[in-house]
Amino acid sequence: MNKIIMLGTGNGITLNLFNTCFVIQNENGNFLVDTGGSIEIIKRLELANIDYESIKHIFISHSDSDHILGLFWFFKKMGFKAMSGLINEKINVYCNDKVHEAIKGVAKYIFPDKLANDIFNVVNFVILNDNDTYTINGVNYTFFDARAKKVKLFGFEAIINNQKIAFLGDEPIDSSLYDRIRGCDYVMHEAFCLDSEDYIFHATKIHHSTVKNVSKIMESLNVKNLILYHTEETHVNKKELYTKESQLYFSGKVIVPNDLEAIVIE
Ligand SMILES: [Zn+2]
Repeated sequence: MNKIIMLGTGNGITLNLFNTCFVIQNENGNFLVDTGGSIEIIKRLELANIDYESIKHIFISHSDSDHILGLFWFFKKMGFKAMSGLINEKINVYCNDKVHEAIKGVAKYIFPDKLANDIFNVVNFVILNDNDTYTINGVNYTFFDARAKKVKLFGFEAIINNQKIAFLGDEPIDSSLYDRIRGCDYVMHEAFCLDSEDYIFHATKIHHSTVKNVSKIMESLNVKNLILYHTEETHVNKKELYTKESQLYFSGKVIVPNDLEAIVIE
C-alpha cells in the first residue's frame, strides 16, 4: 500500500502539533521528508510503527529550523552504531546546497569531531539541482526549486500508484510552477490558518497561505486532491474548519490531516 504518513502537521512554532514532516511508505521502504525541529522525530516514527534505523532516504526541503533540526537528533540516535561501525548501508540525505551547508555547519559546532566524522561516513549527501530525478524505494522523484521568497526551498513531484503527486514545501506556490502543478492528482501545500483568522496569525505577511488563498489557486489549476499542512494549532476541530473553508473555493477533495494520520494514495 502507498501511504503518506503525516508525522506532524504543525507550523514551526507549534507545541501540541509536531512540525510538518512525513513519510512516504510503500512496499520497498520508508522515505522521510523533513525531520521537524527536535528529538520528537524519533518518537513520531515510533508512534507510526517505523523503526528510525530502517530509514535510508531522507529529503530536507529547506534549512528552516522546524525542518532541519530533527536530523541532528536522528544522527545523534544513530551515533553509537555509527561509531561502532555497525551501520552497513548508507543513509541518503537529499537536499539543496544551502541545506547541505547548514547541516555541515551546525554539525561542526554541536557534535564532537569523532562523532561527526563517523556519522558523515555513513551518510551520502545527494546535492540537488533543479529538476534532478532520483529513484527512491522504486519511485522516481523529480526535485525542483520552488522559487520560494524566504529561503532556497525544493519540492518534488512523483508518480505513485499512477497518481501524480507534488509536494511544495512550506511557502505559497510561485506562479512559475503553475504549469507543473496543473491537473495533479495530489498536491501537498501549506496552509497556515483560516482566511478569517489571518488578522491573528498574519500568514500572508510571513510568506504563508490562508486556506482560502491556496484553495482558490488549486481550483484554478484543476488539482484533484489537496493536502493542507503546516498550520497553527488553536483549533481542536481543525480538520472540520479548514475543510469547510477550503470547499468554498475548491471543488476537488480536501485533506486536512491530523498528526500521525496516514493518507492512502489510491
Ligand atoms: Zn516550516
